[in-house]
Amino acid sequence: DAAMYYAKNSGSGLHVYEKGLDANETPERLALTAELRQGISAGQLEVYVQPQADLRTGLVLGVEALVRWRHPRHGLLFPDTFIPLAERNGLIPQLTDAVLEQAVAACGRWRRAGHRLTVSVNLSARSNLNDNLIASVQRLLNRHAVPADSLTLEITESSVIRDPGRTRMVLDRLHDLGVGLSIDDFGTGYSSLSYLRQLPVQEVKIDKSFVMSMLTEPGDAAIVRSIVDLGTNLDLAVVAEGVEDAATWAELERLGCTNMQGFYLAPPMPLAGFIDWLAAREG
Ligand code: C2E
Ligand code: CA
Ligand code: CA
Ligand code: CA
Repeated sequence: DAAMYYAKNSGSGLHVYEKGLDANETPERLALTAELRQGISAGQLEVYVQPQADLRTGLVLGVEALVRWRHPRHGLLFPDTFIPLAERNGLIPQLTDAVLEQAVAACGRWRRAGHRLTVSVNLSARSNLNDNLIASVQRLLNRHAVPADSLTLEITESSVIRDPGRTRMVLDRLHDLGVGLSIDDFGTGYSSLSYLRQLPVQEVKIDKSFVMSMLTEPGDAAIVRSIVDLGTNLDLAVVAEGVEDAATWAELERLGCTNMQGFYLAPPMPLAGFIDWLAAREG
């Protein structure tokens, strides 16, 4: 496969040799893209989960699903190495489906074991915000007997910017189903404030770049404080991500931030180990 892409790419300039494939990729990236396409079908994507807790009580409320690729030769790959590739080459719908499937299935298992936990899934900027997404979400929730309000979809502002009208329609329908909606990396984009009014959002996540430096950079502290105040006034949950120490946790609690996620609580862990981690934490 890799050789085939290379041969075609090194011919007379650019060829559109496969629908949805980016002609500007290097041969290495084309090879990796082909492997990713097969890897998704072969079940090589693994969902890791990172706990989220109520900031005041420390009680674990749920997890964020974070994808990893168990590559047969390169080992465990982090999303930064393959999400951009998937975005440029039309693989995001398959990737999202694989993550949603594992995340919702786990949520259903945990419920049947007596743990009412939420699960958050990332939608990429180039996500399939269309009828297919609505259909697969609905199908998965039914199949695994998971109530819609146990699932939250995290979107970034760039995913909204691409096609505001369509995005809004799809998000409204997901909201009608009862699925939660969260704005990820809040504060890093452009039109955050207007989206909060236009979209059926229940949560904002403060980007970790602000949280991690809020105790040393007054400007970052001011941004965190403003987002918490905004969220409070709009009746939104405010999740601080990237909480790495007790001092940051304490300061966020003082500001009135509602939820936290970060290495201080736990790093992302394999799905299979989560219930043991929870049992060890909560006794
Ligand atoms: P994100 O959604 O902002 O996810 C949080 C990232 O911050 C995760 O990196 C997590 O491991 C890291 N993190 C969490 N707590 C801390 C902390 O206390 N300190 C520090 N330094 N880092 C922390 P990860 O897992 O490498 O994910 C990177 C990005 O990849 C995510 O950023 C998200 O944008 C994307 N991503 C991950 N999984 C998926 C997925 O299933 N679908 C899509 N479309 N994107 C995904
Ligand atoms: Ca996220
Ligand atoms: Ca984030
Ligand atoms: Ca991020």
